[in-house]
Amino acid sequence: MNKFIPKMYVKSIYDIDYKKLKKSGIKCIMFDLDNTLALIDEAEPPKKVLQFLKKLQREFDIYIISNNYKKRIEKFCQPFDCDFVFFSLKPSTLGLRRVKRKKNYQKSEMCIVGDQLVTDILAGNRFKVYTVLVDPLGEKDLKITSLNRYLENKILKKTARQGTLERGKYYE
Ligand SMILES: [Mg+2]
Repeated sequence: MNKFIPKMYVKSIYDIDYKKLKKSGIKCIMFDLDNTLALIDEAEPPKKVLQFLKKLQREFDIYIISNNYKKRIEKFCQPFDCDFVFFSLKPSTLGLRRVKRKKNYQKSEMCIVGDQLVTDILAGNRFKVYTVLVDPLGEKDLKITSLNRYLENKILKKTARQGTLERGKYYE
């Protein structure tokens, strides 16, 4: 069960304590795309997100790591010239391994941020990197994600009972 527990849980990408990440030695932040940075039908980054990510790029190496298709990710990343991994097959660690190789990062220098326990957080914990859970931006998900949400709700029931993780109860 603890494979599903993120290291940090905040409402959105704006609530992450990036100074804390920096202090703890994080150099590389991998963001999930759909419902973490933008809604699934937003082809390009909304202005606020774009400005925010551009600013973050001055402090960290930023990557988009998504299970979605190349065209979608490529188009989204272009406005801020961001490196990405598409079809990353989270919860497999494939995409994370690819990012690690790019600059030969230590795992302790890597962080993954996403809205899903059964893909983003599980992949991150399996790979033993820093994991940050955010609340999903929208209700609408990719079809495959509907199944994930079903599983996630079952997990959340258990973790809530254990007192380890509950939606809306944020911690750093
Ligand atoms: Mg997502």
